[in-house]
Parts: sequence; C-alpha cells; structure tokens
Amino acid sequence: MEWNEILIRYGELSLKGRNRNVFVRKLKNNIKDAMRDLQSVRLKAERDRMFLVADDEEDMKKAIERLPHIFGIQSFSPVAKCEADLDAIKKKAIDVIGSGETTGRTFKVEIKRADKTFPYVTGELQQEIGGHVLSQFPELVVQMKKPDILLLVDIRKDGAFLTSKVFKGAGGMPVGSNGHSLLMLSGGIDSPVAGYLLMKRGVSIDAIHFASPPYTSELAKRKVTDLTEQLSSFGASVRLHIIPFTELQQAIVKQVPDNLSMTTTRRMMLQIADKVREEIGALAIITGESLGQVASQTLDSLTAINEVTATPILRPLIAMDKLEIIDISQKIGTYDISIRPYEDCCTIFTPSNPKTKPKIEKVQHFESFFDFPPLIDEAVRNRTTIEAFEQRQADADFSDLL
Ligand code: ATP
Ligand code: MG
Repeated sequence: MEWNEILIRYGELSLKGRNRNVFVRKLKNNIKDAMRDLQSVRLKAERDRMFLVADDEEDMKKAIERLPHIFGIQSFSPVAKCEADLDAIKKKAIDVIGSGETTGRTFKVEIKRADKTFPYVTGELQQEIGGHVLSQFPELVVQMKKPDILLLVDIRKDGAFLTSKVFKGAGGMPVGSNGHSLLMLSGGIDSPVAGYLLMKRGVSIDAIHFASPPYTSELAKRKVTDLTEQLSSFGASVRLHIIPFTELQQAIVKQVPDNLSMTTTRRMMLQIADKVREEIGALAIITGESLGQVASQTLDSLTAINEVTATPILRPLIAMDKLEIIDISQKIGTYDISIRPYEDCCTIFTPSNPKTKPKIEKVQHFESFFDFPPLIDEAVRNRTTIEAFEQRQADADFSDLL
C-alpha cells in the first residue's frame, strides 16, 4: 500500500488564541527537526491539523515510525490519495481496507466533502463506497457506532483522501512550547523519567551531572551521556553539563559531620545547578526526587536542601511509587541504561546514617566554618558541556503510556 501523506491531529484542544499558534509553530519545527534527514518530507500546518507529505516511499515509512515519539501529536493517519472520481475512490477504498493496517469485523464509511461541487451527496457516496467494500470483503458488517474499521473519505478540490487507521501519538505538548529548564541528571532510574515527564509538558531541557573522578568512572559518565541521548529522542536535543565535584565532596566530608553531609552535598549541588541555570537562561530546576524514597527525600530534608535557592524546583515524581517510575523508565528506554552498575558520586560518599530530619540551622552552622562559595564557582567554571546529541529514534514502546 502506498501512502501519499500523513494527517496529523493535535492534542490539547483547550489551547486558545496565541498559545495555539506557538504550539503549532513549535510542533512543526520539532517534526521538521526529527525528519531533517528525510529529503522528500514537507509539512503543511493548518489551525487544527497538519499534513506531512513525502514523495519517497522509504521516507514515508520512516516518518510513520518517528511520529509516535513527538510530543504534541494526539494521533495521526497515513492517507492515500486518488482522483476525486467515484470509481477511483471505490478502487482506493478496497486498497486501503485491504492494506492490512486495520483489522476487525465491523465497518463504517464517513464522508467529508470540502469540495461542494462534487456531483454526489454524502448519503449516496456512503452507500456506493460502503456497498462496494462489502461486495469485496463479505465478512464485514456495517456498524454505525464504534466500528472496528472506520474508512474516512475526505473529498477536497485537489483530490480524494482516504484513510482507515488512526495511530496514537505521544500526546503532551511540543517540546519548547513551555519554556526551558535544567534537569539534575544522575545515572539513576528516577531523574531521566522526571526529565521525560516535563518534556512531555512542553519543557525543553539542558541536563547537569555531578561527577567525582576518580571515584566515579568513565563508564558512569557514559551512562549519563547515553541517558541524555535517549532523552534527546523525544523531540528536542538535550545539552549536557558535567560538573567536576570531587573537591567539593572531599571538603564536605572534612567539614560536616557524617549524618549531615548528605544534606550539605545536596545543597552544594543545588547551588551549582542554580548558577548554571542562570547562565543558560533556564527558568526552573528539575529533579527526580520522590517523597520518602531515601533519607534525603523526606519533607524535612527537601526543605533543608531547598533553602539555598528561591528558583522553582520541579519534582514530577514526588508522589509516585518506585514501581510506577520503573514502569515509565522501561517504556521510554532509559531503564536498561540506568541499571548499569556504575557508581554515582553520592553513593560513594553516602554516610551510613544520614539524618531524615536535618535542622537547617545545624547545617548552616557546620557549613559556616569553610569557604564553600569559591569551590562552587570553580565547579561551575570548570564544567564540560557536551553539545546536543545526534537525533536518534528511541526503540521504546510508548503505546500504553499515553
Ligand atoms: P535517581 O534515580 O534519579 O538517581 P535517587 O532515587 O537515586 O534518584 P537521590 O540519589 O537522592 O535519589 O537523588 C535525588 C535527585 O538528585 C536525583 O533524582 C537527581 O535529580 C539529583 N541527583 C542526584 N545525584 C546526582 C548527580 N550525580 N548528578 C546530578 N543530579 C543528581
Ligand atoms: Mg541516584
């Protein structure tokens, strides 16, 4: 079956006015970006739908594979085109239904007649086309409500457009339509999921990672670059900042008692992240924190950590169970990377009994004996930035996430 174009439907119907324009423009750019190596692909955006046209059959196939990853698309349908002529339409209808894209027993034809000069009324067309389909596929029965196969016939000035399959899109909003944030990306399971969820809400991201060589290895870093690349497949490239954190961690271990060192470590990380955030012009910081998961994620701990900044911290996993998070990470293809066994900087310096209710005054007291700000500035300055990764399609299955 040769498809001539893809009809793309937008989600978020509540979007109005100017927001809609931003949404459509971003979506168009993101689709273009994801298809940039496919020479024959062209896009035509309308107010509430978009058409992707590809002259090359291979390009069309690849476009159909890539579209389910792009946020802001509610659903899409490959469409076959023929002359706006009843016999041609009947013939095409058989091709479309026989293409193997749709299965089921019940069937309905729906006609949209934008070209009012077409010499048949809707009822007649339905009868003619439906009758012809039934004569070729005698196992089908007509059903008006919720048919298994819905054959849409759209008659426009430039031809008739037929489709019978609706693919689910990734939903959400186009990445970049809701601002930019900085994701604190460890090598763990949670933070990539947090990044994914905000990208789904239209936030574009940079990522920041704290590494403590030689305590953390090159392979641990590789994990994080692989995670970044996987996140990049969801519609927009993610830039990664790697922070040399060893010196600060050693200073913390020396200055702060064991049971408060985790809190101080987090506070230092957050201050560094906040400075990088400011430099790159991002508005918020994203973390993978989930309430009660570990000592540093109690409300008391979060409060003590959060005290160092007034920047909004987005914690999309705060109320999720570990199993729910794992489930998402498997579906978005980050789980297998996250479980590679290389140490995170925090695990290495983790004290045996961190306080679950650290007192801010106490933490401030111990931090006051050492001049941390120069080390913070130095870490910010000495970061390595890895520019946007090459676009790569994730091979994850999103179908029941959406
Ligand atoms: P994750 O699975 O994301 O590592 P976690 O359950 O292990 O999370 P913590 O180790 O307490 O939880 O980390 C909480 C959050 O702090 C992480 O989700 C991440 O956003 C941030 N974080 C922790 N370690 C690092 C790091 N080395 N680099 C960047 N961010 C980090
Ligand atoms: Mg972790």
